[in-house]
Amino acid sequence: MSKPMTAPKLSRRAESLGTENAFVVLAEVNALVRQGSDIVSFCIGQPDFPTPKNVQAAAIGAIRGGKHGYTPSAGIDELRAAAAKDMGARRGLDIRPDDVVVGAGAKPFIAYAIASVTDYGAGDEVIYPVPGFPIYESQINANGAVPVPIFLRESRDFAFDPAEFEAKITAQTKLVILNTPHNPTGGMLQAADLDAVADILSRHPHVWVFADEIYSRLAYAGAFESLAARPGMQDRTIICDGASKTWAMTGWRIGFAANRILAPVFTRWITNTDSCASQISQWAALEAVTGPQNGADAMRASFLERRDLIVGLLNTVPGVTCKTPGGAFYAWPNVTEACRITGCTDSEALRKRLLTEAGVAVLADIHFGRRVPGDGQHIRFSYAASPKAIRSGIDRLEAFVRRHM
Ligand code: PMP
Repeated sequence: MSKPMTAPKLSRRAESLGTENAFVVLAEVNALVRQGSDIVSFCIGQPDFPTPKNVQAAAIGAIRGGKHGYTPSAGIDELRAAAAKDMGARRGLDIRPDDVVVGAGAKPFIAYAIASVTDYGAGDEVIYPVPGFPIYESQINANGAVPVPIFLRESRDFAFDPAEFEAKITAQTKLVILNTPHNPTGGMLQAADLDAVADILSRHPHVWVFADEIYSRLAYAGAFESLAARPGMQDRTIICDGASKTWAMTGWRIGFAANRILAPVFTRWITNTDSCASQISQWAALEAVTGPQNGADAMRASFLERRDLIVGLLNTVPGVTCKTPGGAFYAWPNVTEACRITGCTDSEALRKRLLTEAGVAVLADIHFGRRVPGDGQHIRFSYAASPKAIRSGIDRLEAFVRRHM
């Protein structure tokens, strides 16, 4: 008989590491598809378009031109300068090339920011949105800081209540994470919200801000605005943006962070981890930022059409109500009544039955942190899917609900 395997213990840090359930559900969906199931998937948050041709050509040119070695950890000068100009212009800010660091996606900057302003086990607090991108809470925990959720309320179009926000700030608060346009609700912080947040933070000068603005180009409800452009906010705000969502480059792994004080710190993190982002992807991203924007503009226009399509259709399904999201490519319908009709105890039970009984793959609110008390049950649709898939997926959802009426 072989002995049970014993291995040395893992760290508390390793054990506290969370995950992004989109990837877990995606693996489930792929397994079902391999077994021959017909699934319409709304799980994964990435554009369903190819990377624009001019960007592809720039990458091929980089490979052929021998641009394959390491780059400085902060990125190639050309891309830092282009990203600084572009990020600054779209926010009405003066951002210097030296303030910008290029990373292997926007995601690593979440960890770098938390690790750079909090100390392990010191009781340092980080305020972050719930529902929200699951990596925030995972990295707060893995870095030994204290997660302090701020709830986004359906009644406020998925923004938080500024008074509730101020009540969460303590002497131990080191960082506030904001995300606009927002994953998973598609909500946007409006000018009045940003004014209120800036006003509150002016009374708490010890707090950093991580402004996750990866969806900044996918804002439909009015112009995109950044907290960093409010008086006194630029130096204490880490602006995070990237190539993934705007130019359909999720797998190329290029993100940007801009902050004068933290840029050298982030650079050192990258020297300690990735060394640099892929040089080939950096030249491609330079073309994405500085070249013709018709590809990005066409994708944005298409997402807007699909938003209107999916929100319209969702609101015809019994037991489902869906607010019109202001940005990104996510719809976040309230399915409390649909759960009741179909006998599902909660959104996660509904999600599982939609997958196995209706052939529709979505994510549930619990994949984005805990549920907001009093706000009921929600599921997330990424509508970066073809209009045909959207029609067929919502038809299946509707038929599933009606089978139980
Ligand atoms: N922030 C948010 C809110 C996101 O939704 C995502 C991607 N799903 C990221 C950051 C990470 O983007 P990237 O591909 O640039 O790492």
